[in-house]
Amino acid sequence: MERNYDKYRSWIEVDFNAINHNINELMTLLENRDQFMAVVKADAYGHGAVDLCHMMSEQGIKSYAVATLAEAIELRENHIMGDILILGYTDPRQSHLLNQYHLIQTIVDFDYAMEFNAQEISVDVHIAIDTGMHRLGISSVDEIKKIFSFPYLHIKGIFSHLCVCDSDKKDDIQFTYQQIKLFEDIIHILKQENYDVGKVHLQSSYGLLNYSNLNYDYVRIGISLFGVYSSLHDKRNDKIQLKPALSLKSQIIHINEVEKEETIGYGRTYTTIQKTKIAVIPIGYADGVPRSLSNKGQVIVKGQRVPIVGRICMDQMMIDVTGVQDVSLHDVVTIVGEDDQEKISIEELADLTDTITNELLSRLGYRLPRIYKGGENIEETLSTNIY
Ligand SMILES: *Cc1c(COP(=O)(O)O)cnc(C)c1O
Repeated sequence: MERNYDKYRSWIEVDFNAINHNINELMTLLENRDQFMAVVKADAYGHGAVDLCHMMSEQGIKSYAVATLAEAIELRENHIMGDILILGYTDPRQSHLLNQYHLIQTIVDFDYAMEFNAQEISVDVHIAIDTGMHRLGISSVDEIKKIFSFPYLHIKGIFSHLCVCDSDKKDDIQFTYQQIKLFEDIIHILKQENYDVGKVHLQSSYGLLNYSNLNYDYVRIGISLFGVYSSLHDKRNDKIQLKPALSLKSQIIHINEVEKEETIGYGRTYTTIQKTKIAVIPIGYADGVPRSLSNKGQVIVKGQRVPIVGRICMDQMMIDVTGVQDVSLHDVVTIVGEDDQEKISIEELADLTDTITNELLSRLGYRLPRIYKGGENIEETLSTNIY
């Protein structure tokens, strides 16, 4: 019996070759490699930020973005060099940590800038400009100018975020061009008055894919680095081909032979219509498999799609393997990825569960070990507390 990685109950496989392929494909839309800022928040969308950043720094990537101070410090503690920009809120009372770890903090509004300056600790910052998303950022040029006079804030960059650049609707495209224009106008005024704005950046993945003729100092690439689109229905860039890097796998650990008209699992939501072989796999919603896939989703066993039956539990779920020949204990179960001719994409799961792949990916990984594959080497890397 071939025992794959089955000393783990369930696991994530990350294909470094796919990540590398995606970087190279995305680079074809850029003028130089230094423009690439890898967004590795939420543990690199479930792919494992530390290992991925090591791999990417070997590929010459020098800039990273995260959402939180803790994520940034984790990278530094693991010897990741280069620029690390924190895109989200950090309490100004943590300025000493930003300074100590040489991190770059996003300035989310004017009062926030004042609070930081009042700490009297030097901090590198990028100023967020609100161009219409109305999440973080400043829209007043006068306020931005004032921040340049704050002695403890070193302005290393200025950026904004596009909120409908994934859409091909006419209104949305028009709105995006309006955001671009607002952004350029503000940058233009500042430059004309000799403010040193540092690195200027606007595009995330879809900003690059759909507005690739823009050319700023950085592009902040998250989801497309991992080789997937946010949803099945998004506008795609035909010029490049992305490869999904992540697979999610488990194994059969128990098989029940169940008579017809028996019910399966919590709430008795599934009733067998014939004698049925029910396999139990040790992965559940606490591992990031959405509970809403209960009685709806499928997985792959021996190259064949089989249904998830009954409610997905916190740590386990049941599948109907009646139709699979020679099914046995420890057979690998693919929840996301390919097995033989069959394939389940994370986009398909996002569609079934009414969300985007970003959400599904970023919720994976708590409890799951990640196995990194790259070229000849298969490196096994374990997160702490996983055996
Ligand atoms: C998450 C995030 C990104 C990356 O977005 P993707 O669509 O995953 O590429 C870029 N910029 C900001 C401000 C973000 O919050």
